[in-house]
Amino acid sequence: NQVIELAERPDGQPSENNFRIKEIETPTTKDGEVLVQSKYISVDPYMRGRMRDEKSYMPPFEVNAPIQGGVVAEILESKSDNWREGDLVEGILSWQRIQTVRPELLRKVSPQVQPSSLALSTLGMTGLTAYFGLMDIGQPQKGETVVVSGAAGAVGGVVVQIAKIQGCRVVAIAGSDEKTTYLENELGADVALNYKTTTDMSEALKTACPEGVDVYFDNVGGEISDAVIPLINKFARIVLCGQIALYNETSIPHGPRVAPLLVKRSALMKGFIVTDYQNQIKEGVTALSGWYQQGLLKHQETVVEGFEKLPQAFLRLFTGEKLGKLVVQVN
Ligand code: NDP
Repeated sequence: NQVIELAERPDGQPSENNFRIKEIETPTTKDGEVLVQSKYISVDPYMRGRMRDEKSYMPPFEVNAPIQGGVVAEILESKSDNWREGDLVEGILSWQRIQTVRPELLRKVSPQVQPSSLALSTLGMTGLTAYFGLMDIGQPQKGETVVVSGAAGAVGGVVVQIAKIQGCRVVAIAGSDEKTTYLENELGADVALNYKTTTDMSEALKTACPEGVDVYFDNVGGEISDAVIPLINKFARIVLCGQIALYNETSIPHGPRVAPLLVKRSALMKGFIVTDYQNQIKEGVTALSGWYQQGLLKHQETVVEGFEKLPQAFLRLFTGEKLGKLVVQVN
């Protein structure tokens, strides 16, 4: 059996040295517990926040203790009623091959979810983030212009597709030509911009959004937001989902002050955490599964093979070397 721990807290950009892989004994299952084997493990940008020794909406990881994140696992042994050997489950578990857990912390994964990694992506946490952030805060209306940053990622890719389903014009921003081609040709974005090679993002966005911006779904923040926000229309909605451009900064750089513009445009800017919608998960999963079955949402995952590759996979979130949701398949 093996576990991956936080060896030390990163200062700035994380590296493989921040992680440690360790051989451990397989625990014995106590009454009320289940023994599970990890099948797919999710790497997510929010986990960078948990590496800081800082109070937030989730407690920080402890040094020399297992990293925890979204895992799809199979039950190997059950000492709990209602949970059977062979069931697939999902929950926030340790980065560990085999572990015991109290099933209250788990959610069953339906056998219809194929591959089961979808329970971590389009039909799971990142899909739900896209759904609730866009539909509840963004409230996209037919014919409106929706701009999405981090558009070729796990959340962004689903936002682009839902905005198209709602009949919007979608302008997608991502960090490579492969991603912009994918966004336009596969996910249906009307225009996709590569922020790494576009010399003047403000001008490029102005051209791409001739009628201004009604909804800005922001996964990234920083200079990309500085270029998008001046283009907002009256009653625009700015959905603050993530600020990955700032996650490795040791101090948050000052940007332009947007408050006066929000006043003038009667605009809404609202942050959220997907767990705010804990009581509406069923609604979200039903909508996402429906679109998925109709072929309106594409399965977009990059699967890395090998438990020991988890740290490397996590680092790829910050270099952008992947398309869609990044998951690790445990071999
Ligand atoms: P992604 O799959 O989008 O992976 C991260 C992507 O961010 C990379 O592929 C990269 O793409 C881009 N990126 C990384 N560093 C930078 C940078 N410095 N500047 C611009 N782009 C960068 O991750 P997720 O879809 O899982 O998450 C997207 C965002 O949503 C994150 O900010 C995350 O924290 C947030 N989030 C929020 C939740 C909530 O409840 N509010 C829940 C889940 C996620 P590229 O090649 O385009 O640069």
